[in-house]
Amino acid sequence: MTSSKRKTIAIDGPAAAGKSTVGQRLARSLDYLYFDTGVMYRAVTWAALARHVPVADEEAVTELAQTLPIEVSPPTVDDGRQYTVMADGVDVTWLIRTPQVDANVSTVSAYPGVREAMVRQQRRVAADGAVVMVGRDIGTVVLPDADLKFYVDASVEERARRRWREMLARGEEADYEIVLDSMRRRDEIDSHREVSPLRVAEDAFVLDTTDLGIDAVLAQAQCLAEEADC
Ligand code: C5P
Repeated sequence: MTSSKRKTIAIDGPAAAGKSTVGQRLARSLDYLYFDTGVMYRAVTWAALARHVPVADEEAVTELAQTLPIEVSPPTVDDGRQYTVMADGVDVTWLIRTPQVDANVSTVSAYPGVREAMVRQQRRVAADGAVVMVGRDIGTVVLPDADLKFYVDASVEERARRRWREMLARGEEADYEIVLDSMRRRDEIDSHREVSPLRVAEDAFVLDTTDLGIDAVLAQAQCLAEEADC
């Protein structure tokens, strides 16, 4: 493998561990596509809530996932977004970040039929390489042959603190204990579901961001991506 090969890079890990920041910056430095698979599960969850499809109805939610048009493109509005997410013709970029979507997305993403529909689209996106794909099961299931795999982690308290600060910065009301509780619940479901649970791929490099600044983590990731002497 030469360093000029158009690599596929998989980044997995729990919520708010720093996957997106590391992934986005790594993609920019390599001039690769950045693709956050979490937005797809969030878009399906948003659509189920918007159409009053009961989230507990596996068959109905699966059918929705199989037919819902989801598009991710470069930002179309200059409001701090990193990309634009369209679902059903609606700009859902911010609508998929509500606490209501947070609370239901793990139920939706645990349905095998939903995952199958999403994974098929994700593999298409990665087919040409030159992509940094971020999620929970990218290195283990979506792209098991990825050229490079990272598992970005941090303590649950630190991750909840980051999410809580982000919400306050957006002017939202937020209670740290509630954010921590919701984060623990999501971790629990994501790690224990039957299909594609969150776990470290055997050949993944683990990057812990609890005490390490994002620049240091990024430097490690870049070094490995460039196959330098790290
Ligand atoms: O990464 P993010 O927090 O936006 O992901 C939202 C949810 O989508 C996760 O909690 C998980 O349930 C689901 N997800 C998944 N597999 C992925 C990406 C996200 O199950 N590859």
